[in-house]
Amino acid sequence: MNKLLEINNLCVDYVSPNGVARAVNHVSLSIAPGETLGLAGESGCGKSTLAFAISRLHKVPALISEGEILYKGSDVLKMNDRLLRDFRWNEVSVVFQSAMNSLNPVITIGEQLTDVILAHKKVSYKQAYERAVELLNIVGIHADRMKSFPHQLSGGMRQRVVIAIALVLKPKLIIMDEPTTALDVVVEREILNELYELKQKFGFSILFISHDLSLMGEIADRIGVMYAGNLIELGQASEVFGNPQHPYTKGLISSFPTIHGPKERLYGIPGNPVNLLNLPNGCNFQERCTVCVEECQQQAPQLISVENGNLVSCHLIR
Ligand code: ADP
Repeated sequence: MNKLLEINNLCVDYVSPNGVARAVNHVSLSIAPGETLGLAGESGCGKSTLAFAISRLHKVPALISEGEILYKGSDVLKMNDRLLRDFRWNEVSVVFQSAMNSLNPVITIGEQLTDVILAHKKVSYKQAYERAVELLNIVGIHADRMKSFPHQLSGGMRQRVVIAIALVLKPKLIIMDEPTTALDVVVEREILNELYELKQKFGFSILFISHDLSLMGEIADRIGVMYAGNLIELGQASEVFGNPQHPYTKGLISSFPTIHGPKERLYGIPGNPVNLLNLPNGCNFQERCTVCVEECQQQAPQLISVENGNLVSCHLIR
C-alpha cells in the first residue's frame, strides 16, 4: 500500500506522581493518500492522544516514549522547528473536538479566515479576502456571512468555518477529532456529506476520530478500534462494521443505533474502561468480555491477521 502516514509501534505515556499511564500502547497503522481512516473507541481509550502525537502537538505530561511517525517517509519525531511548522500547516491540518468554540468571538469570521491566509501565504489583503470568500463557499457558507461574528452563526456553520480554516493550505491529511460530536444528527450528516465531497475534490486523506462506530461505518474506508491504548481491531470499514471480530468491536456496534436499517435493541458493554494505571495481566478487555477464557487472564493477545482480512487481538479469534 502507498503510505502517506505510517505509525510504527507508537507509545505515548502520561507521567504523573501516581505512575505512568500508557494512553497509546505500541500502535501501528498507516493512511494511504486519499484514504479515510476511522479511529473508534470509548472515551479515554487514547484516540486524541494519538491525534495530538501525530501532529506533535502533545504537551507535558504526555511523552512519546517509543516508536516512529513517518510522513511521506520522513520521521515527524525528528523534524526540527522549521520542518515541523511546514508539516503542520502545509501537509497536515487538525480539527479538534469543539474547535468551533475556538473561533475568536470578537472578530468576524471573514477577518479570521483572511488573517489565517495572510499569515501563511504571500498574498495581498484583497487576494486573501477573495480566497476566504471562496473557502466559505466551498464549505457551503454564503459570502454574506463574512461579516458575521461567530455567535451569529449556528454550531454547524461554525464547524464549517473551522473546516474552511483547515483547508486554507490544501493539506494532504486532515486529522478530525470528534468533529461533529457537538452537533445534532441532521447537521452532522450534512457536514459529513460535505466533507466527503471536499475529499473527492481535493483528494486529501482523513484520520477521522469518533466514539461512534456507526457513523464511521458510513464514511471511513478502513476502521481501527482502540481499547485502553491498544489497537484491537483494524480492517476494511465494511468488514469491521459488517463483520466485526473482536468482542469489544461487537459490543461497540451493538451499543449504537444504526442510521439505516431496522430498529434493533441496543446492548451496552457492561462495566467501565480499565484504569490505565492499574492494568490487569493478560487482555485489558477481560473484565468486560463475555467470552473471556483462562488464557485471556494470563497473556496479552497480539494483533494478528484473521480470516476476513481484519487485524484482531483476541485469543479466541484466529
Ligand atoms: P480519547 O480521545 O479516546 O477519549 P484520550 O487520548 O483523551 O482518550 O485519553 C486517553 C487516556 O490518557 C485517558 O484515559 C487518561 O487516562 C490519559 N490522559 C489523557 N490526558 C491526560 C493528562 N493530561 N494527564 C494524565 N493522563 C491523561
